[in-house]
Order: sequence, then C-alpha cells, then structure tokens
Amino acid sequence: MQPLRNRTAVLGTGEVPWDSPVIPSDDPGLRGDGFFETLLVHGGPPPRIVRLREHLDRFERSAAAFALTLDRTAWEHLVAGITDDVPAGAEAVLRLTASAGTCTATLRPVPQSVREGRDGVHVVSLARGTSTTPDAPWLLAAAKTSSYAVNSAALREARRRGADDALFLDATGEVLEAPTANLLWRADGRWWTPPQAGRNVLPGTTLAAVAAQFDVHETSCRPEDLQRSDGAWLLSSLRGAAPVRSLDGSPLPVDESLTTVLARTALEP
Ligand code: PLP
Repeated sequence: MQPLRNRTAVLGTGEVPWDSPVIPSDDPGLRGDGFFETLLVHGGPPPRIVRLREHLDRFERSAAAFALTLDRTAWEHLVAGITDDVPAGAEAVLRLTASAGTCTATLRPVPQSVREGRDGVHVVSLARGTSTTPDAPWLLAAAKTSSYAVNSAALREARRRGADDALFLDATGEVLEAPTANLLWRADGRWWTPPQAGRNVLPGTTLAAVAAQFDVHETSCRPEDLQRSDGAWLLSSLRGAAPVRSLDGSPLPVDESLTTVLARTALEP
C-alpha cells in the first residue's frame, strides 16, 4: 500500500510543505479564539470524506458565532486538493482550522490510539462544573472552538487515573458529553443521549448520523444510570462508535453486534 502523504494547505495561499510554520505567533487562534473541524477520510480512488457537508455546515455555524463569514467554495476547493491522493486502504485525519487571522487544512494519518479506541474505551466521570448555559451566545456553546485546553486536561486526568477517556458531569452530576465525543446508550430497548440545548454540549455530526438511522431519544442521566444500561458508546468522527467498556471502574456490557452496526453508520460517508 502506498504511504499516506502528510499535507498542509493555507486558505488563500494553497498547498505548502506539510511541516511549514504557517500560523504566526500572534494569530488569535493560538489564544483559543478560533474554531476547527476534524474529519475522517477513507482512501480512494476517489477518496471519501465522511460527512463533509455536515462538517462544513457546523464550520459555517462556528464562523457565524465568531462574526466571520466562511467562503464555503474556497474551503471545498482546498479540501478537494489536499485529499486527492489518499491511497486505497488508508485512513486520514483532515483538520480544518480557522481564526480571524489564519485558515488552514492539514492531512495526517489516523493515530494508532484512535484506531485502538474503536475496540472500546475505559472511561471516568469528571466534573465540568457549569450546570446550564443561559441565553448567552458569547459563551459559544454550539461552536467547535479551538479553546480545547479543558478538554485536553480532562483526557490527561483520565489517563492519569488509568482510563482512556472521560465523561463530563454538570454541577448537578448529570452526564453531558466526553471531551471529544457525544454519548449514546441503550436502555429499555431504546437509544438515548443527554439533552444538548443550553448545556454546552457540541452537536456532533456522528450523533446526528446515528440519530438519522435509529430512533435516539434525549434524557438526562447520571453515571449510575449508565452502569445499569445495556451498553454505552462514545460517538465521534474519528473513532466512530467506541463502546464504553467500563465507567469509573465498573464494567459495562458491550454488545459487539450493536457496536458493528453503529460503527458502520458512524464511520461511513
Ligand atoms: N463533543 C465534543 C466536545 C467534541 O469535541 C466532538 C468532536 O470533536 C464531539 C462531541 C463529536 O463531534 P463529531 O461527531 O462531529 O466528531
């Protein structure tokens, strides 16, 4: 199999050597004042970018929250160029980043840790503190902002505790989402996910794709509800549907055939 080429492109400039220092040190994005998208690309020909339209829709909504306008045609052109030679059998991560200063697209291999996560993850619950987001658009609740320091810190804390991932709890102890994924679980013969409105939960493209195929209901839940469930999954673009193998040290049931069905929906274009 041909190796995957690392690639980098800058909006308005085009492709540059993949390891070029393209973001100036005073770029607002470096202070977290920016937004991004992470997409999965399957090798071709032709390469298949999973849910490109849905990701660009969310990218546009994030831009609007930053009072910026996205030139969608220019981004589509940049994306098509940078993904045109992903070889058959390869999987790549396409990351689009934008700020008022610099806009980039990068293509890299899917990390091994992400592939391993598809087989299952051990999760710990961690407080995120805030309970609900009032009507305060300046808090950027539904935007995929680059202010990911807390999300990264939660993942580090999860690893420090010997787990792979975390589930954020609000101030009342209800589950919100994972630092880079939404939660789905199965109980009473139905699919469930925590409510998103006003709770600073990112509307995931993977969850939306799963909800378009399966009847997913919203309800609030606590870690102990998940421990009594018939299974739970972390849904995200790169890992697809990662079954939760344990929560706070208690094993959760894993249904391999449901995981296969969910993963097919989650990881396919
Ligand atoms: N929630 C958060 C906080 C995320 O960062 C992500 C993805 O990075 C998701 C949910 C899942 O979103 P998607 O399915 O679009 O990848």
